[in-house]
Amino acid sequence: MKRIYLHKAKAQVARTNTIRDINKQIVLTYVRDRAPISRAEIARQTELQRSTVSAIVDNLQFDGLIEEIGTGDSTGGRKPTLLKIRTGIPVAVGVDITPRVTTIALADLAGQVLKKDVFPTSPDADYMSGQIVERVEKYALDNKKHHLEVGISVPGVADQATGRVRYVPYFGWSNWEIARQITEKTNLRVTIDNDANAIALAELWFGEEINRRDKNFITVLVAEGIGTGIIFDGQVYRGEKGAAGEFGHMIIGENAPVLCSCGSRNCWEAHSSEVALTARYRNRIENRQPVAGEDLNVEQIIDLANKGEKEAVEALKETAKYIGIGISNLIIGFSPQSVVVSGRIVKAWDLIKDEIEFLAERSVRQGLPQTIIRASTLNDTPTLKGSLSLVLAGKFASAT
Ligand SMILES: [Zn+2]
Repeated sequence: MKRIYLHKAKAQVARTNTIRDINKQIVLTYVRDRAPISRAEIARQTELQRSTVSAIVDNLQFDGLIEEIGTGDSTGGRKPTLLKIRTGIPVAVGVDITPRVTTIALADLAGQVLKKDVFPTSPDADYMSGQIVERVEKYALDNKKHHLEVGISVPGVADQATGRVRYVPYFGWSNWEIARQITEKTNLRVTIDNDANAIALAELWFGEEINRRDKNFITVLVAEGIGTGIIFDGQVYRGEKGAAGEFGHMIIGENAPVLCSCGSRNCWEAHSSEVALTARYRNRIENRQPVAGEDLNVEQIIDLANKGEKEAVEALKETAKYIGIGISNLIIGFSPQSVVVSGRIVKAWDLIKDEIEFLAERSVRQGLPQTIIRASTLNDTPTLKGSLSLVLAGKFASAT
């Protein structure tokens, strides 16, 4: 029997997906992954009835999600009409909230960004609500004839079931009702999740082919903090009330160069985040003339390291060592097929790869398979892709 993978927790799937919806997701996934493909070929590969496939394809065409792109070679009889995913039509609004900036983007079914708006994130939750709702409402009004849904990625704990942001440590926000506020104003369906979970979902659906095949992997987001997303048997493992994966606070050593967002100096996050990297670099250049500018940022440090500047390379490698220690603990606990590292730091992957792998390899016990560690291919904005995936992944399913 085929195994069907959907993006939602199993209990939720049973409640919200009828067989017809699931079949629709399967057909859409086949069109996405194997285009150009004919109705007959989809029926053959999925073992669905030809008439079922035709009805679903009609439906998907009506919704504007797929389109016909001419005819293929005949295998006797009429030439088959080929199908592909329809691009350029907005279907998702991604709201990507990071401690520095917030991005609101409109994207098509393939995850291509059609339009986006970036503004600085304010520590004032009410102000942020106003800014976000206003922009989403504008997208909704401008695209009335398209069926939009909204995905929100937050750097904190979010409860998918209630749509409530439980806690954002960076700003001290708690019980932020952004999903409800958007729905009230726009009537659009909103899905919300923690940034690392959203990235894990993006890797599963829009990352490299191998991630989609693996179905058991962990993503590590290196940003202002450290976030981890767990994909277990093709699903995001969220735990009770969405609080799973808070490995940023596991203790991996003392005297980190900065305080963790929880106030400790022993957490993985305090040793391995971008903030830790910046502090290490600052400490190294303190006595050097001329001193780099006050507004020294992570991008600059990574650029300098890639150009071979000694202090930047050292700071990056030391940070990579701690990233590796944390990953080694994750491997011991989960034995995943792979660990995918994302964030700006992967721009220096050639410099940090060996350090991370060396530490992580220590955790490989005899007889256990080796976990592959690799850099994310989700471009510069993995969290934006994550927010869009919260909507887009819901439209697909895969059968193996
Ligand atoms: Zn902590």
